[in-house]
Amino acid sequence: MASSQEITLPQTKIEVKSTDYGTGFDLAIIGAGPAGLTACLYSLRAGLATVLFEEAILGGRVNSTYQIENYPGFPEGIRGEELVKLMKEQVVNLGPEIIFAGVVRTVLEGQKKLIFLPDGKSIAARAVIISSGSTPKKLNVPGEEEFLGRGLSYCAICDGPLYKEKKVAVIGGGDAALEEALFLARYAASVTVIHRRGELRASKILVRAAFENNKIHFIWDSEVKGFRGGQRLEELVIFNSKENKEFSAPFDGAFIYIGSQPATDFISEPIKCDPAGFIETDDLMQTSLAGVFAAGDVRKKNLRQIVTATADGAIAAISAYHYLKE
Ligand code: NAP
Repeated sequence: MASSQEITLPQTKIEVKSTDYGTGFDLAIIGAGPAGLTACLYSLRAGLATVLFEEAILGGRVNSTYQIENYPGFPEGIRGEELVKLMKEQVVNLGPEIIFAGVVRTVLEGQKKLIFLPDGKSIAARAVIISSGSTPKKLNVPGEEEFLGRGLSYCAICDGPLYKEKKVAVIGGGDAALEEALFLARYAASVTVIHRRGELRASKILVRAAFENNKIHFIWDSEVKGFRGGQRLEELVIFNSKENKEFSAPFDGAFIYIGSQPATDFISEPIKCDPAGFIETDDLMQTSLAGVFAAGDVRKKNLRQIVTATADGAIAAISAYHYLKE
């Protein structure tokens, strides 16, 4: 028989009947980056019984962004960690139910939606917001797994300070690659950006800052084909497509920033996605499954920014509220 327990949330009191949290929640939010935290804020303020799942750290990948200069309200810019701290405070003050666990499986079709945790328990909710974000894309070349943590990294803010006066490479040509190259230039002796084309994808302001930084150099029209070394990374194997030539270059460290892929492995049922696997929604953040919304980087969209993630989260929460009231 299922046991019964009462959970008190800020503006609602719900009766929960199951071996775990049972059928109690109005809304489950999967992922607590800026989109999930904002969804939680709006959901709690709307009086919904809300549960927030996070497998790693509240605030997600913003925690590992050194400086954010385009979030409105901070004319001098703000550290990622600091922005997350403020967002967290605002949500935690409302007393949300937070479960620190990775979701492994879902049942999202039908009215009672189930979220399964690694210990086999399931938690039920009447609506779900998927705000699980994205994970760094891998190059999938020889040596990438072998040298991870031994010269190779996907996180400049975590590992950059270890490369004081060293020679490092950044692979990629987007906003993330240039932003992190600029961060690494504070510590490293030199930073070489290796990009597969002759033109950067990053925004003009970052491109200008990188060009003006005398520690930052570029290798154009080139792809990294492998990582080599002994105990630690020693050199990169690089192919230049213009000259049709492969060569190796010595580096103490390499940081891969070639974009990201949606974190959707835990979704068990067919949900409409674009060819790259990002979840498709309408303007109200409604997905192809009734009562299931998506917000933030996991969603198909043109502009992946913190400001668009928070906007998605707010819209998704209010859409979920209207769905639940119907
Ligand atoms: P991105 O914009 O998708 O850029 C990825 C870069 O990696 C591109 O230059 C791409 O080359 C290159 N690339 C992709 N696959 C590759 C491969 N297999 N081998 C070599 N190079 C490869 O990714 P992102 O920089 O992570 O940014 C993701 C989103 O977050 C973007 O919307 C971005 O604007 C946003 N973002 C914004 C900020 C900010 O505003 N401060 C900071 C970080 C991220 P091509 O150019 O040739 O495709």
